[in-house]
Amino acid sequence: MKLSLVVPCYNEEKNVPLFYEAVKKDFANVNFEYELVFVNDGSRDGTFRELQRLCDGDLPVKIVNFSRNFGKESAMYAGLKESEGDYVTIIDADLQQRPSIALDMVNMLDSEPEYDCVAAYQDERKESKLLVFFKDGFYKLINKFSDTEFIQGASDFRTFRRPMVEAILQMDEYFRFSKGLFSWVGFNTKFIPYQVEERATGASKWSFWKLFKYAMEGIFAFTTAPLRIATVLGLVTSVLSIIYLFVVVVQKLAFGIDVAGYATIVTLILLLGGIQLSCIGIIGEYIARTYIQTKGRPIYIAKDVIKNHKYGK
Ligand code: UDP
Ligand code: MG
Repeated sequence: MKLSLVVPCYNEEKNVPLFYEAVKKDFANVNFEYELVFVNDGSRDGTFRELQRLCDGDLPVKIVNFSRNFGKESAMYAGLKESEGDYVTIIDADLQQRPSIALDMVNMLDSEPEYDCVAAYQDERKESKLLVFFKDGFYKLINKFSDTEFIQGASDFRTFRRPMVEAILQMDEYFRFSKGLFSWVGFNTKFIPYQVEERATGASKWSFWKLFKYAMEGIFAFTTAPLRIATVLGLVTSVLSIIYLFVVVVQKLAFGIDVAGYATIVTLILLLGGIQLSCIGIIGEYIARTYIQTKGRPIYIAKDVIKNHKYGK
């Protein structure tokens, strides 16, 4: 098997057949074997039924059927795990990423042996100014504090060679921030610009709040810099209070000025209380992740893995 297309699907009943046809059309003239590995991420609509229907077709189709919705990160992990190809492409089911680009990626890997991965990044941003502002900020922040490099606009739409897939699979951490993992494992990645299409049908599952949580996930997974905030804030506060102590003492002894108290004290108590609570919160985020990780729960649970007639018995 030369290529596996890994397709995470969550409530994509209308898109799945369209995707299948699009692949068949774009891959009509290829002279290598390829398979479709669909991961049904606990869809609540008829996605699974549609996927089963595709099994009757003449392409090798595998379905990893999750017991519930585990999220795209888990779906990608499961897809990579079940894939058999020498090359593996991760591609969305909604046709926002054209299958013909996956073919270009394969050709690039064939002709450029120095690369282990071809990743598509979005060059034209159709997002709102506010979202672009937050995303720019996030990438600046995480690149400053993390040793892992994060490329802005880079998507999960990528084609890997098998050794890189195996490296990614070795990282079985529960909190998966794939963009970081893909970069952390190393290897040579070629970035190519691509145009994101409109969704074929349905709506994106991302809201601003979800994106924010995802960004936090990235920060907590790839840097411990926030923990240092507590140390730095503590040192700064100590230095400032020593200076202030001198000021007060000199004012009293040299000039006999009494410092008015109530407002200052209340403000300082509230400020320091706020800072302390935030720092405890940050430590809590790391402890919570450590706690969940130590339980060693699986990244996903599959009810069944179905292979169609093209695989033989
Ligand atoms: N997806 C998934 N599990 C989820 C959410 C999304 O497998 O919990 C899949 C979805 O079916 C699609 C891909 O991940 O194939 C990208 O999702 P979406 O189109 O919502 O994200 P966007 O393209 O807006 O980034
Ligand atoms: Mg999409």
